[in-house]
Order: sequence, then structure tokens, then C-alpha cells
Amino acid sequence: MTLLLDDVTLTYPDGEGRLTALDSVRLDVPAGRLTAVVGPSGSGKSSLLAVAATLATPDRGRVVVSGTDTAGLDRAGKAALRRERIGIVFQQPNLLPSLTAVEQLLVMAHLSGGRPKAVRERALALLDAVGLADLAARRPHQLSGGQRQRVTLARALMNEPSVLLVDEPTSALDHERGAAVVDLLARLTRERGTATVLVTHDRTHLSRADVTVTVRDGRLSEPAGV
Ligand code: ADP
Ligand code: MG
Repeated sequence: MTLLLDDVTLTYPDGEGRLTALDSVRLDVPAGRLTAVVGPSGSGKSSLLAVAATLATPDRGRVVVSGTDTAGLDRAGKAALRRERIGIVFQQPNLLPSLTAVEQLLVMAHLSGGRPKAVRERALALLDAVGLADLAARRPHQLSGGQRQRVTLARALMNEPSVLLVDEPTSALDHERGAAVVDLLARLTRERGTATVLVTHDRTHLSRADVTVTVRDGRLSEPAGV
């Protein structure tokens, strides 16, 4: 249980009352496994990732990352946990426009220290692992959408996270490129032993996942079949 959400309920303010985005959710993601999360728009998928990323604090329940119960952490403690243990990939590749691919990764390492030479080697090795060895000097506008998403994936792995959270990484890509990104994610998950959660609306990607769960109105269920 590298990532555990135990009986997690999350609400947002909604007019006079509260909107329940997650309702008693339990999700246990072991190291080296890819869990896919599907569900209609507004069902709570991004909220689930936000809670797992310690970016949202649940009303009730526990979030445990690499054995650390996040309820015991203050703001700074959560930021440190995110930096050291959690890789996050958002729907839109949020790269810095003026930096080259390799520099996008170096920024991450800069935040957490490390010897410059070793850090650079690690960044280049990761770009190689995502198939971008030859494009390390390109800036975002010189990369395709799929290539940009690969850079964000490499960047998320830069600090050797134990948990990898990926929110609809293929929504801006055509089907073939989207499938290639999910294949890559599945391979990296196994090679690097991350506990990976992939939110996707494309059911054809589910064959790459070890486990698929469905969210509906903030409730989780394992589907009978895919
Ligand atoms: P999904 O990612 O599956 O589309 P979300 O987790 O983004 O769903 O949203 C779940 C529900 O919570 C939706 O009804 C959405 O409108 C609501 N919601 C999401 N974020 C917020 C927020 N910051 N404040 C209030 N309501 C929110
Ligand atoms: Mg979402």
C-alpha cells in the first residue's frame, strides 16, 4: 500500500450547503501497479487525485503515502512529501515556455537539491526512457502535444516518486498517440515501481491497467467487466 485512501470523504462549499465530491472512497494502490480510474465528467476523478496528491484535505478518512499518514503533516510537510514522493501529471502539459526539455526536468531537481552533474545525467536518462533522447534541447513550442506530455511524464519521475498521479494525459492527443503515452506509463510504472493512478475517459486504455475502478457521484466501484 504505497498509496492508500481509506474511507475518504471530500466536500466543497456549494451555496448554502456542501457538495460531496468523494463519498467514503477506499483505494489501495500497490507499488509497481497501474490503477485506472474512469467515470463521467464531474464524478470526482480529479478530486480523487487532488486528495491523493495532498492538494485537497478530506473531511473524513485517511490518505497514506509511502507509509506516511498525511493528516499529521502541516503545509510545509505536505509540500515536502509532494516534492519527494509524489509525481503529478496534469491534463494539459504545463511546461515552462522558455525552457528546453532537459531544463524542465532540472528545475524539479533544483527544488530538491542534488549534484548538478548527476542530476543532468538523470534528466537525460529519463528523457531517453520516454523516447526523447534526441529532443532534449527543444523548447515546448518545438515539440508535438504527445512529446510535451512525455516531457511532463519524465519530469514527474525526476525525484523518483513512489506515487505517480496522472489526470487524463491523452485528452489533447489523437487516439494513437494517446495509446502510446498510456503504454509508456504502464511500462514506467512496472520498471520504476511507482504506485500509479491514471484518470482516463478512453476505455480502450484500460487493457493496460492492472486494476480499473469506476467513479460515479463520488463513489468508487470496481466494474464487472471492461
Ligand atoms: P471529474 O474530474 O470526474 O470531472 P471533479 O473531481 O473535477 O470531477 O469534480 C467533482 C465534483 O466536484 C463536480 O461536481 C465539480 O463541479 C465539483 N468541484 C470540483 N472542484 C471543485 C471546487 N474547487 N469547488 C467546488 N466544487 C468543485
Ligand atoms: Mg477531471
